[in-house]
Amino acid sequence: MDAQQKAIEAALNRIKNQGSRSNVNQLYNAILEGNKTALAKSITLLESSNTAHRQQAEALLNKCLPHAGNSQRIGITGVPGVGKSTFIETYGNYLTSKGHKIAVLAVDPSSQKSKGSILGDKTRMETLAQNPKAYIRPSASGDSLGGVTRKTREAIVLCEAAGYDTIIIETVGVGQSETAVKSMVDYFLLLMLAGAGDELQGIKRGIMEMADSLVITKADTGNEINAKNAEMEYRRAMHLLPPSDIKNWTPVVGSCSAMEHIGFDKIYQTQNAFFELIKRSGFYTENRQKQAKSWMFASLKDQLFDDLQQNNKVKEQLQSIEEKVVQGLITPHQGAEAIFKLYRG
Ligand code: GDP
Repeated sequence: MDAQQKAIEAALNRIKNQGSRSNVNQLYNAILEGNKTALAKSITLLESSNTAHRQQAEALLNKCLPHAGNSQRIGITGVPGVGKSTFIETYGNYLTSKGHKIAVLAVDPSSQKSKGSILGDKTRMETLAQNPKAYIRPSASGDSLGGVTRKTREAIVLCEAAGYDTIIIETVGVGQSETAVKSMVDYFLLLMLAGAGDELQGIKRGIMEMADSLVITKADTGNEINAKNAEMEYRRAMHLLPPSDIKNWTPVVGSCSAMEHIGFDKIYQTQNAFFELIKRSGFYTENRQKQAKSWMFASLKDQLFDDLQQNNKVKEQLQSIEEKVVQGLITPHQGAEAIFKLYRG
């Protein structure tokens, strides 16, 4: 490359950098003004796998970080059909009527395979989607739970910078995604059906241990007795679990009808009591600090693994090592060790 070509390339790079800097600045200013279009565009940037987009997203996140954090982050889970989206729609509208601004995000690792993303369907949460004080983001697509988790954590930062004081994160009750959501929220709410069989309750045990509160759904007029019985049953079941790691907090069991808008005052009061307690006791801050630390290590793991996958020596031999493990010629641990040795060089 001669000197002239080099100069042209440098000038083009400067223009490109200036362009992306001004794009970041524009998005940042619009986010702080609460502009939903800018927020949506920015979340798309951080979901992109394009390197230039990723760099812009990083710059934007850094700028937004000082404006984030001051919110109530709420996780909501329950089996498909329990009524999560109907609940979030009713409760979301309820919360905005109390003066809150709500952002709804989703962690849904199953959406890739089934294409049935929990928030992808536009007809769900229609009234909340039209509510000017609410922002709904469909589930981030991604090939791994780790990827979806990172994108959701980063989206939380942008939503908070945009002034949303309540962040609701929905996830399906299928296992690992609950743990991921638990690690990014302050308050974890489990929705349950009245009259669900023992089998289902058995599956839910691990998730029940994570719940800060439990709500029986579909407690419509005429179904109150069923719901009250279920409340009693679950209260008993919760007693058998190890106590909450939050001092002076016993998970509250309630019920609601999202269809008939019944039970939401109590759900709101419980949430407020919970946040009052954890803010007073210091748990809110401690837990967020702990979450930030584990986020750092998760991110480090991702970066190391990305780097390993980009390594030429690893690339060359990965397939043959995989093959040996599949055929039982070496153990999975030996395979991992061989790959790691190649990586370390
Ligand atoms: P999700 O899969 O957990 O998000 O559940 P949905 O919110 O899509 O609800 C599943 C079904 O239950 C839908 O047909 C809803 O209309 C219904 N549903 C949700 N909440 C209530 C409720 O409070 N009462 C009654 N009767 N049905 C409800």
